[in-house]
Amino acid sequence: MATDLQIAASSITCRNPATGEVLQELQCATDREIVAAVERARAAQPAWALLGLRRRLAIIREVQRNLHARKSEIADAITREAGKPVAEALVTEVLVVLDAARFLIGNTFPLLRDESLPHGNIATKLKKGRLVREPYGVIGIISPWNYPFSIPATETLAALVAGNTVVLKPSELTPLVARELASLLHASGVPHDVFQVVVGEGPAGAALARSPIDKLVFTGSVGTGKRIAAAAAERLLPVVLELGGKDPLLVLDDADLDVASSAAVWGAFVNAGQACLSVERCYAHRSLYEKFVAACTEKTMKLRVGHGEDRETDVGPLIHERQMRTVEAHVEDAKSAGARVLVGGSRYTELGKNFYRPTVLADVTHEMRIMREETFGPVLPIMPFDTENEAIRLANDSEYGLAASIFTRDSERGERLARHLHAGTVMINDAISCFGISEAPHGGVKSSGIGRTHGRFGLEEMVRVKYIDTDQMATMKKVWWYGYGENFRRQMEGFLDLQFAASLTRRLRGALRASRTLWRKRL
Ligand code: NAD
Repeated sequence: MATDLQIAASSITCRNPATGEVLQELQCATDREIVAAVERARAAQPAWALLGLRRRLAIIREVQRNLHARKSEIADAITREAGKPVAEALVTEVLVVLDAARFLIGNTFPLLRDESLPHGNIATKLKKGRLVREPYGVIGIISPWNYPFSIPATETLAALVAGNTVVLKPSELTPLVARELASLLHASGVPHDVFQVVVGEGPAGAALARSPIDKLVFTGSVGTGKRIAAAAAERLLPVVLELGGKDPLLVLDDADLDVASSAAVWGAFVNAGQACLSVERCYAHRSLYEKFVAACTEKTMKLRVGHGEDRETDVGPLIHERQMRTVEAHVEDAKSAGARVLVGGSRYTELGKNFYRPTVLADVTHEMRIMREETFGPVLPIMPFDTENEAIRLANDSEYGLAASIFTRDSERGERLARHLHAGTVMINDAISCFGISEAPHGGVKSSGIGRTHGRFGLEEMVRVKYIDTDQMATMKKVWWYGYGENFRRQMEGFLDLQFAASLTRRLRGALRASRTLWRKRL
């Protein structure tokens, strides 16, 4: 989402999205300051890598301890700037980061240690292969506003334990949370130049992408992701792109209706629907469609919309007027094409200008924007299906492929269908929570992105793999070196037969011919 915040040419006004209250005025970093931050990060990187994994993990343990001690204070800061209920800030942001630290502390040694690589080819049996994982150097991270703490923090921790330094460009809508992250890391022993935050809008992100970083981890919209991919292609900068989603939730005919409807309502409205993994479209088997829609409607009516600071609030505000306009446009488009609004469908102006009522839509079709484009707001459109094949076809009929959910009492059936869905993650009998499973890779297919964050695969994104090959016969010329001729050709044919001929006799003959190459004169 491009932003039309009240921004002077070089500064950002940070606001509470629930009240509009000005929280702070921040200077934006200039292009030159961004390059200088990257240069400082580069200068600091060798010492950080040399510190060794054990000492880096001790610092991550300290980050975890301090975050736990400051959990309420940080959750309050997230709510103030991003609007979400404090309980959500605790569970979907602070807890996720504490657990990511737990994963890294327990798993980085085995995942990043050197690995020996045995060879299958007889010709290279006398060589010793080793895989060594090395940090990239400086990782640039560009992050969005919807999970302003857990997204950059989980990516940063993985980058840091692997021995990289980090320059983070947070969303212009939530830079204060990024500063909280910086103060947490620095107070825990991460040197200032090892983790830096540069504040600014889109152009600052573009400047970071152009700067001499070694890899970029971007989380945000598909449009921005494509622009970044194009810029990165110019200089072959490796990128991870965590982009948007239009996640489907399928309710099969054997699903527990009460459980599935509660999941759909939570999955669609958590963080006011502003989650990349939100349930953006729902498909219920026709046999239970009416009852499912009624249950979702009834549960949605019970949701308490309000300020995130209020402990009773279930659904907070949207982040910004632009987000509101997208939600309104999608709902209006659906209504005008015949969708039924069962609850919600309008702004909640009594609460403030950024509040929208949680909305359930029925009678939607796949031609409507609400079923095709990312809405990123509190709207749950529900459509019936008749067969499993139809459900899969509808779920896959999207340019996105981040995650999907299936509700069924038959887990084997769920897992079978999961294999047919085009998505980075499929959850059976749950939604969204995969983001909080530190072991699970997070990322999408199709327009939802490239690469993974979190877990083993997220950690692997933070290192380059180097292959070290040691031929242990230091005093022997290799059989494949120069000294070619007809004999050599025949010996090599024999060698190929030895390894790949179908008949045993040909293999034995091949072995005989190939062995002669050992006595061949080489250059
Ligand atoms: P956005 O693309 O507008 O902005 C994301 C970040 O990119 C911000 O920091 C922004 O300043 C920066 N940016 C903007 N233009 C840029 C440019 N030309 N070059 C470099 N950086 C630039 O996205 P948003 O509105 O902040 O976030 C919402 C989007 O993020 C949604 O589409 C959502 O699905 C997606 N998202 C994806 C994931 C995921 O893990 N897949 C997680 C959260 C959000």
